[in-house]
Amino acid sequence: DRIAEADSVVVIGLGRFGGALALELESLGTQVLGIDDSEETVQSFNGLLTHVVRADATKDEVLRQLSVHEFDRAVVGIGTDVEASILTTSRLLKFAKPGIWAKAISEPHAEILEQLGVHHVIRPEHDMGRRVAHLVRGAMLDYVEFEDNFVMIRTTPPAVAQDRPLEVLQLRSKYDVTVVAVKRKGGQWEHTTPQTVLYDDDQVIVQGAKDKAEAFSALVS
Ligand code: ADP
Repeated sequence: DRIAEADSVVVIGLGRFGGALALELESLGTQVLGIDDSEETVQSFNGLLTHVVRADATKDEVLRQLSVHEFDRAVVGIGTDVEASILTTSRLLKFAKPGIWAKAISEPHAEILEQLGVHHVIRPEHDMGRRVAHLVRGAMLDYVEFEDNFVMIRTTPPAVAQDRPLEVLQLRSKYDVTVVAVKRKGGQWEHTTPQTVLYDDDQVIVQGAKDKAEAFSALVS
């Protein structure tokens, strides 16, 4: 039977990364076909994903039998076994589907996946390490970097952003950043308006170019 419908994803390798990803997709309402060659792993995901199959994904006929080519999106979560990751990924790429995501455990691994033509190479430890560095440095509570050096930072407002309405403070022209949302102590996130006044115990979301937004957040003492 076919499960390759519009909102469905095949996840190959249900380790710590692929497993968490597959469960999150299911919780968001996406149908997941999970494939792993470990019986124990497959057992542990039984009933939690739309379909779980024990199979060796490096084999062409296995992928064909499971109609993997009918899925628009596939994630290869195999990492430790670099050979299995590369074999599986290159077989998937033959189906010429646009959305292939593959995990790399090292720089050379990532390079090879990119050379193969993988659309999205993910390096979880590397990316998380970079992200956490910004949190460890201090003022930032959360840090998201987008492709083009654009970031969103959750922080407390620096003194220069406090006590007067945003329309008076002109943060965009002075600092090249936008405070897009505010959360008062015990409250919910809300969009800011020109009339919003920020205080010391608020949390804010600042967005802007990476250097600008970081410099602004660094003003928090
Ligand atoms: P993590 O660090 O995210 O746990 P691993 O690379 O250690 O990632 O684990 C990836 C998963 O991929 C494991 O559950 C393993 O059983 C599975 N796996 C490895 N090789 C294959 C293969 N050839 N076919 C299918 N699944 C595989």
